Amino acid sequence: MALLNIVSYPASVLATVGTAVEKFDESLERLAADMFETMYAAHGVGLAAPQVGRSLQLFVMDCEGTKIVAANPVILSAEGEQGGDEACLSLGSLGAELRRPAEVRLGAQDVHGNSFEVEGRGLTARCLVHETDHCNGLLFIDHLSPLRRDMLKRKFRKVLKRER
Ligand code: ZN
Repeated sequence: MALLNIVSYPASVLATVGTAVEKFDESLERLAADMFETMYAAHGVGLAAPQVGRSLQLFVMDCEGTKIVAANPVILSAEGEQGGDEACLSLGSLGAELRRPAEVRLGAQDVHGNSFEVEGRGLTARCLVHETDHCNGLLFIDHLSPLRRDMLKRKFRKVLKRER
């Protein structure tokens, strides 16, 4: 296994709709294993392929006991609403309050291509929609009002400058 480089906003791969996963082979298994290792090292609960520079419909997640590899994920249903802060490994430590569905059902394929469905509520639901968004070229800041989004983007550019 190997640690992968996590891509930061505003990399274009983060704003690109991922390609569908069609080959469920050893290299996909290796990528998923590397993504888990990278996610754990960064203390995250989810990581999507575009975040490691691979424009694919693929994410890994280990959140509140739900540990999955999801290829070609689709949100099948979403119910209710929850408040709370959201953050992203591609946006450093910046977080923002964002309303998300309280309960979601996700359909996807595992690393071998077998279809499965998983339900999540609370933080798990938030993570499922956040990672599925990544596969579709969306970041959580894309759901904020233009004013709040611009504020966060400016803050993030400052953080990046300071780190370089
Ligand atoms: Zn993210």
